[in-house]
Amino acid sequence: TVALIQNSEKLALVGQMAAGIAHEIRNPLTSIKGFIQLLSKEMKEKQEIFRLLLSELDRINFVVNEFLVVAKPTAVEFKPHDINKILLDVNYLLETQAIMNNIEIQMNTASHLPLVNCGENQLKQVFINLIKNAIEATAFGGKITVTSGDVNDEEIYIKISDTGCGIPKDRLPNLGQPFHTTKEKGTGLGLMVCYSIIESHQGTMKIESQEGVGTTIIIHLPVSTPNQTSQMQAIKSIV
Ligand code: ADP
Ligand code: MG
Repeated sequence: TVALIQNSEKLALVGQMAAGIAHEIRNPLTSIKGFIQLLSKEMKEKQEIFRLLLSELDRINFVVNEFLVVAKPTAVEFKPHDINKILLDVNYLLETQAIMNNIEIQMNTASHLPLVNCGENQLKQVFINLIKNAIEATAFGGKITVTSGDVNDEEIYIKISDTGCGIPKDRLPNLGQPFHTTKEKGTGLGLMVCYSIIESHQGTMKIESQEGVGTTIIIHLPVSTPNQTSQMQAIKSIV
């Protein structure tokens, strides 16, 4: 719990900072992109340069958007959803990327999983971030296992395990901190976003890892109660 609380304080701080700058960055980006597209139509011989310019712009856009996830609390509709269906959707989205790396994603989802009151797109975002990390950590030919089931009458769990590189013990406390990344093209924002979204669902997320063996992410989420209808909830969300 202490770590979770520390994380949420950091999130609040980063959020305030990000809210101030992210919007200011996004607007000029959009007009720069428009002008570049215009120019590229007139200067056909410089296509490669324009392609690079646009892809670098997209990257700035991507980082700013990830930032906005934690920066801007928006109203999201929470509805009872079948988590297994969300997991299958995400599996479908990432299948190609896994196949290209010869990684098998095994889905061990429980039948008759109780519904969870949640923001569907927000949880999708969490599972995408986590399975992407698992793919990126796993060498050619590895395996990712996604499991779901009951913890008790009040909670379900989702477990994402990989046979990837694992995380050294001394780096475990850094996970979820903004910009902590070991990847050349990483943002170090993915896990922070996951913590933030899971927390807004009154859930918990834990990371277990052994260097050279693999990593397991365990998420617990409260199941929806029978009288719980759809409701609007302030959540740090993707815009
Ligand atoms: P990014 O993926 O952009 O680096 P994340 O917040 O998603 O940012 O992850 C932060 C860091 O945590 C990664 O750079 C990586 O070192 C480590 N990490 C996250 N997930 C895994 C995993 N499944 N296996 C090994 N390392 C991981
Ligand atoms: Mg990531």
